[in-house]
Amino acid sequence: MAVQGSGGRALVVGLGVAGISAALRLHQAGWEAVVVERALQRRSGGYFIGLFGSGAASAARLGILDAIGDRRAPGSVVHEVDRTGRRHRGMGFTDLPHRPRMLLRGDVETALFEALPPEVEVRFATVPERIVQYADKAEVTLRDQSTGTGVTERFDLVVGADGLRSTVRRLVFGPDANHLRSLDQIIAAALLDEQVGGFDPHDGLVLAEVGRSAWVWPFADRGPSVLFTYRTDDIDAQFRRPAIDSLRAAFGPRPAGPLLGELLDRFEKADDHLFDSVHQVRMRQWHHDRVVLLGDAAWCLTLFSGLGTSAALAGGELLGTMLERHPGDLPAALGDWEGRMRPYIDYQHAHLGPERVLFMPATRTQRAVRSTLLRSRWTPVLGPALGHLMAASDLTKMKNVDVAAA
Ligand SMILES: Cc1cc2nc3c(=O)[nH]c(=O)nc-3n(C[C@H](O)[C@H](O)[C@H](O)COP(=O)(O)OP(=O)(O)OC[C@H]3O[C@@H](n4cnc5c(N)ncnc54)[C@H](O)[C@@H]3O)c2cc1C
Repeated sequence: MAVQGSGGRALVVGLGVAGISAALRLHQAGWEAVVVERALQRRSGGYFIGLFGSGAASAARLGILDAIGDRRAPGSVVHEVDRTGRRHRGMGFTDLPHRPRMLLRGDVETALFEALPPEVEVRFATVPERIVQYADKAEVTLRDQSTGTGVTERFDLVVGADGLRSTVRRLVFGPDANHLRSLDQIIAAALLDEQVGGFDPHDGLVLAEVGRSAWVWPFADRGPSVLFTYRTDDIDAQFRRPAIDSLRAAFGPRPAGPLLGELLDRFEKADDHLFDSVHQVRMRQWHHDRVVLLGDAAWCLTLFSGLGTSAALAGGELLGTMLERHPGDLPAALGDWEGRMRPYIDYQHAHLGPERVLFMPATRTQRAVRSTLLRSRWTPVLGPALGHLMAASDLTKMKNVDVAAA
């Protein structure tokens, strides 16, 4: 068992999957970890997550895989549907090779959080305001937003795991405009309390049109999650009105029909929803002296990769492993960490195309190709051949590679 604090003192900014997995593994590696989180309390619930092999391997080593569970519904079938109600067999995450676990984001965060030992201090409503790096320390000014008080503390390492619009990234690596690459797309997600009318509770639905799509992701033990995505040339305009108005405009002017109409109505009535623009984060380097970025803050892969949670888990775990391997040599640890993560992340950034088309075809040609492939997937001759091709593809291998293996 590592000696608490023998590795140094680390500040972890952000209590998401990346931040908690880093704090947990840093503690195991003998570091004293302090986590700050902007929110007043821990989030729960969240939207649909598929956990691939890369993340599952790290979760197993972190000792949380069993606690994460699996909400995959046995026998679940995904239907491609259209506005008129026609349907045929489609494809969802459960049909992918290696069959990723189906989860809510909160399942992963809760399992990680519950594994955090009491020695890891967590401060809510707290954000970093200033970071100054010296040869031997990083000095960070932290603001408690509930009281307004500020405190300046010294750390050996600062881990920026504060998501897509990271404050740590902005303070140390420069403005968002230098790092965010817009996909000109909006996503909107909500949890539904029950399945939409006319479908088995455990079935998934996909309504994919050119430049817009709606997905219903089923779970074994609760109502499904709905996800809308659409392309737009004017991202800012989408936020100048209520999310539901932007969604209705994006899916108009054609009449919604009963199914899409119900999905939009149910999104409007949901207790909580996510509505955001989609960006990748592209950076030449994720560490600078004593500051390292992790998860969406460093590389946001977007939901289309299906790998953001897996990469956050693997990145957090591997960071602790590399610090353990290079005691007292931060540059070597961060250099080795980035050397291992970089090819894996670069590959995902470069190969987003096929998944994006599966989620939402951008052109008529893409829609035709997508439709042909989906129909062929379940035919007796072509189907198995396509299945083998998918299973043997580099895309599948890279989703399931154990990037954080010791
Ligand atoms: C609809 C949707 C579906 C997705 N589906 C999948 C999927 O199927 N598979 C998959 O692997 N991934 C999926 N993802 C991506 C995945 O959710 C993210 O990649 C992952 O959660 C990123 O974790 P993170 O810890 O890096 O960032 P976040 O989850 O964004 O966590 C950042 C944390 O930092 C906090 N924070 C922010 N700013 C500050 C600050 N200044 N100071 C202190 N704290 C701060 C935030 O409150 C938050 O708690 C999906 C994403 C979306 C939106």
